[in-house]
Amino acid sequence: MTKHHPSNDFLMEHAAGSLPVAQAACVSAHLSYCERCRRTDGQLQTVGGAMLERLDPVSVSESLLDTVLARLEDPAPLAYAGQTEVSALPGLLQRLTNKDFSQLVWKRVTRALSISYLSTGDTSHEFALLRIAAGGRIPEHTHGGNEMTLVLEGGFSDGRDSYHPGDFIYRSSEDTHAPVALDGEDCICLTVLDAPLKFTGWQHRWLNPFLKLRAS
Ligand SMILES: [Zn+2]
Repeated sequence: MTKHHPSNDFLMEHAAGSLPVAQAACVSAHLSYCERCRRTDGQLQTVGGAMLERLDPVSVSESLLDTVLARLEDPAPLAYAGQTEVSALPGLLQRLTNKDFSQLVWKRVTRALSISYLSTGDTSHEFALLRIAAGGRIPEHTHGGNEMTLVLEGGFSDGRDSYHPGDFIYRSSEDTHAPVALDGEDCICLTVLDAPLKFTGWQHRWLNPFLKLRAS
């Protein structure tokens, strides 16, 4: 069961097709794990379609969106046939990674952290997989910008909560955190950044000039 979801703003922009490609890919990947957000996405697309149809001359009532959002807590309809919670890798990532993480080019950043950069064609966002060794920690860092994270395998905790496959986490430039992978299994996450990480601890600060945004 995924516990951490994209905000309604992100779901709305996703449904409207207005998110930058790399962010849209991350939200889409979450949808493949999360029935609740898939349902919202479908409803928002319906609302968007209705708004377009009625754009001229009748405007849609302002309460329509509220009504849709209020219905999010309704009981779920029958589960999608053949969909299982936390299944294999989302289709899009299967294509980008050739279904095999071990075949990707991994760059080692610290003893516990490796990064593999993937290309989405979005030149304003870095789209990368992070591998954190089981029990390993990403050095404390902040962001020059915003970071979307989706857990794909294993899990991590950041002192506030713990995150598991399918969980979506969004952090802004004000957040400083030092995620620690859960024991027992390496954690693999997808991250989408619009500015490079900045390590804040003295042991790792020297790495900062090397952490350029690799958006392609
Ligand atoms: Zn969700």
